[in-house]
Amino acid sequence: MKITKPEKIIKNFLDANSIRYLFQHNKLPYRADFFYKNKNLVININGCYWHNHGCVNSRIPEKNTNYWLSVFEKNKSRDYENTKKLKALGYKIINIWECVLNDEKAKAQTFKNLARIINGAI
Ligand SMILES: [Zn+2]
Repeated sequence: MKITKPEKIIKNFLDANSIRYLFQHNKLPYRADFFYKNKNLVININGCYWHNHGCVNSRIPEKNTNYWLSVFEKNKSRDYENTKKLKALGYKIINIWECVLNDEKAKAQTFKNLARIINGAI
């Protein structure tokens, strides 16, 4: 099973805090990174480059620029469609960006929020 670096960071946090999850669950319109069936909750961990976040990590390559622009455009419209499908099915979605996990303060806050959301009422 392939796991990205930002996915691993979240997985390690959940494991360290004994917070259970379904990982890479594929019974939804797309493969959810982390899934909580009883809460109708999906957590997406987004790489800034592939999902073209618009932050400093999502620069557009100078070579083959048009090609990359079309790749990012496809990825973004797929994200949009996936979100729409899940929302239509009544799921709540949390998107966590890679760059947030590269910043210690933002990461700590994200962990705090995640624990609260998963363990408590949303
Ligand atoms: Zn980013």
